[in-house]
Amino acid sequence: MDVYGIIGNPVEHSLSPPMHEAAFEERGIDAAFVTFEADPDRIGEAFAGAEALGVDGLTVTLPFKGDALEFSEPDDRARRVGAVNTVDFATDPPTGHNYDLSGAVRAFDHHDVSLDGARTVVVGAGGAARALAFGFEEAGAEVAVANRTESKAHALADDVPGASGHGLDDLPDLMADADVVANATSVGLESDESVAPADAWHADQVAFDAVYTPLETRFLRDAADAGAETIDGAWMLLFQGVEAFETWTGVDAPVEAMDDALRERLAE
Ligand code: NAP
Repeated sequence: MDVYGIIGNPVEHSLSPPMHEAAFEERGIDAAFVTFEADPDRIGEAFAGAEALGVDGLTVTLPFKGDALEFSEPDDRARRVGAVNTVDFATDPPTGHNYDLSGAVRAFDHHDVSLDGARTVVVGAGGAARALAFGFEEAGAEVAVANRTESKAHALADDVPGASGHGLDDLPDLMADADVVANATSVGLESDESVAPADAWHADQVAFDAVYTPLETRFLRDAADAGAETIDGAWMLLFQGVEAFETWTGVDAPVEAMDDALRERLAE
């Protein structure tokens, strides 16, 4: 039996187990998916232990995405973003990937939204914002980063070729000209708030929210009310899982079965 898992802290509410278990079942792969709540003070031992025990692959979540850079050989994207969210132990040394980036881009592809030449606004400057900003830039978009702590927006924009950094005061003006507006802050997580002013949305615009609890955030509701297209955060989560599954197993992921499992769990 193959063994995969997610390493994080806390990790008990992770949606990765049902999503990957559904994929293994659908593809007839004999594998287990385990949650590993690692001690942050012993994270190096945890990665070394997983490798020594023959764990085949790990999804890495907070707060270990930066640590995983040290304990794997990061690919170019993971190195650029400065975070690893998937480790593949089939290689020696284990390879680190950032599928938050490619998963987000794939979510847009899945909705037939082209990022090439699009004017995008990423709200936030933390880990999710980094993945989105690099992903959008890689897909050919123009990127503006707006964040509550403006200095962090500038720091991120300095890392992303051609990007600009802003405070949240600039958001209405940025949104007026944007094709895509993405929330990568934690605003709206388990609360009915939006980081974007409701009257700044317009039709002919795409709203993406990294937050997926709830699935229908205030940010997305306001956008939809203005006639904009919406993409919820479960799509990014789904496609990072799809990319991890395909790397680990070399098999095409059963996207629909994974999506069903994810959304079933989110509806509970
Ligand atoms: P993070 O690194 O802690 O960054 C949090 C961001 O939110 C920062 O930019 C912070 O601004 C901003 N923020 C927090 N409270 C705010 C407020 N009241 N008003 C304005 N801005 C505020 O977190 P993260 O890892 O990037 O995660 C951000 C969100 O994305 C979380 O909800 C997470 O669950 C979600 N996420 C989803 C996926 C997915 O697959 N869908 C993947 C990763 C993360 P400051 O810099 O000013 O503090």
